[in-house]
Amino acid sequence: MSGRLFVVGLGPGDAALRTAEAEAALSQATDLVGYAPYLARVATGPGIVRHGSDNRVELDRARLALDLASRGRVVAVISGGDPGVFAMASAVFEAVEHGDPAWRALEISIVPGISAMMAVAARVGAPLGGDFCAISLSDNLKPWPVVLGRLRAAAGAGFVIALYNPISSARPWQLGAAFEALRGILPATSLVLFATAVTRPEERIRIVALGDADPALADMRTLVMIGCAGTRSIARADGGAWIYTARSVPAS
Ligand code: SAH
Repeated sequence: MSGRLFVVGLGPGDAALRTAEAEAALSQATDLVGYAPYLARVATGPGIVRHGSDNRVELDRARLALDLASRGRVVAVISGGDPGVFAMASAVFEAVEHGDPAWRALEISIVPGISAMMAVAARVGAPLGGDFCAISLSDNLKPWPVVLGRLRAAAGAGFVIALYNPISSARPWQLGAAFEALRGILPATSLVLFATAVTRPEERIRIVALGDADPALADMRTLVMIGCAGTRSIARADGGAWIYTARSVPAS
């Protein structure tokens, strides 16, 4: 079995934020597997086979990639951002755990990428400079009460929260319910960032107070970041602002 499987993070969008290791893995691949819009971000030469799919079939996609690699192909499974953050790397290992024992002999490499929360943080300043957590708001793979419980616990414990998958046409009300829950825990003046399509041509960043946070500011390409007590805004001379979270936390 001479096949290989790379699980490659493409970063948030801008090709300049793709690592040299990711480029090297992509240049070796005979087959690319991934959600069609991510595949569209990878330029390939002739003879490279593309296996595009839609968004909600991660496990099938992982099995297809493992099967191709076990037939001797060099396969790159593509994720946006980092492949280990709410993305394909876990799906690949779920498939390995429950699938063909021969897959355990494959050489599998996870190639990291810049996750959306890092790209967003870099754009606005340093909001992740203290303790923070990342939560996917999607209730496709976990029950909604679990999502809400984790959000409340994170806000109550003083973490900055990076909310991935905040909204989609199939999940239209969850972000509003999340803000409602957070308003019961955090001050209405807490800073909320809506960062959409960061590092891509359509990039748009809005900074509002939690009391004014409107789910309509988010779409599927948005990362929502909720500040903690130490998250501050510094007015810039040009009218904009830097957002950062202080490194020190006062004794309570
Ligand atoms: N593996 C990816 C996350 C996949 S989940 C990563 O590490 O970034 C998809 C979610 O990621 C989107 O709903 C959005 O919340 C966030 N996201 C991905 N790319 C983004 C970008 N360029 N700008 C803002 N948010 C982004």
